[in-house]
Amino acid sequence: MEPGKNKIEEQDFVKCAERLIRREHLERGDWRILLEGRTQSRQQWLAGQASALRDRIYGKRIFIRGLIEFTNYCRNDCFYCGIRRSNSQTSRYRLGKEEILSCCEAGYRLGFRTFVLQGGEDPYYTDDRLKEIVRSIRQQYPDCAITLSVGEKDRESYAAYRKAGADRYLLRHETANAAHYAMLHPKEQKLADRIQCLYTLKELGYQTGAGFMVGSPGQTTETLIDDLQFLEELQPEMVGIGPFLPHHGTPFREEKQGSGELTLYLLSLVRLLLPRVLLPATTALGTIDEKGREKGILAGANVVMPNLSPADVRGKYLLYDHKICTGKEAAEGLEALRNSMNALGYEIAADRGDIAPEC
Ligand code: SAM
Repeated sequence: MEPGKNKIEEQDFVKCAERLIRREHLERGDWRILLEGRTQSRQQWLAGQASALRDRIYGKRIFIRGLIEFTNYCRNDCFYCGIRRSNSQTSRYRLGKEEILSCCEAGYRLGFRTFVLQGGEDPYYTDDRLKEIVRSIRQQYPDCAITLSVGEKDRESYAAYRKAGADRYLLRHETANAAHYAMLHPKEQKLADRIQCLYTLKELGYQTGAGFMVGSPGQTTETLIDDLQFLEELQPEMVGIGPFLPHHGTPFREEKQGSGELTLYLLSLVRLLLPRVLLPATTALGTIDEKGREKGILAGANVVMPNLSPADVRGKYLLYDHKICTGKEAAEGLEALRNSMNALGYEIAADRGDIAPEC
């Protein structure tokens, strides 16, 4: 998968890329050509195609989401994640309803119209507690979108949160290949359950986000093809893609980090595969590259998610080492973000930023 070291002919690459651009269904072999035929110039060309497509659908508008990381307790033990149950070095915290509402208040004043409540799978937040939080945000901010990202739940719970006012749900599938999924998770966590959750969320009318890490241990061209084919089938409204970054308190502490360039390339491919998708330039991308968020936009992303969590807990929601939490990536850095988007010819949109209607 190293750019420039492949023997894929220009004409074969272009043929597959053009088919993707025309929105034709690609077979595994076509995806293999696109993934393994990556060179710097081909990547640049596809990024241009992806960016232009995004501009045709959304104009020069980038959406912001206020991320509230409200708990780092987690009952799961994902091998890659810094807040996994077995990481005893993590200092754990939870935010109460009033603290979450204060984050929303600060965010609203700054111009955020989407709040993303993300956390580990923390049993303290029973359905009743979560519903109460969602209901309060919905009441106070009727013009805002509420996104939840609290992992795998049963249908009744998802339905209850939806009824309480949640509009969107982020649940990365992590990898669509069952053997690869088993390399990343303990055996009680199953790919089939994760996928079932995603279909349930879609059925319940959530704008649903799937996604995966780039360069997670065991990932290959073949597992990435599984991911792209799964996204084509699921048709999620959002896709979160960021590089895998090791955390010192996990079994993957010695593993190599994912490639920023390959992440950017996958952003472009996903934009072309799902033209209307809401596609963030993730914090992980901003962590491995100071200009990661800007490069993400130029590759076809159209969302950024500044951190709205209280400053004193930001350093505790550490999924991986060296996570940026210095202020520039945070909500207070909005002015800097606005300037950097303006410099690229984009503006930060003032609305909720729902998925564009089909045309
Ligand atoms: N508990 C919820 C869930 O499972 O969807 C949300 C929180 S979870 C920490 C959010 C995402 O962080 C995961 O879906 C995973 O892709 C990402 N993540 C976790 N550890 C990571 C790492 N070491 N490097 C990059 N991303 C990571």
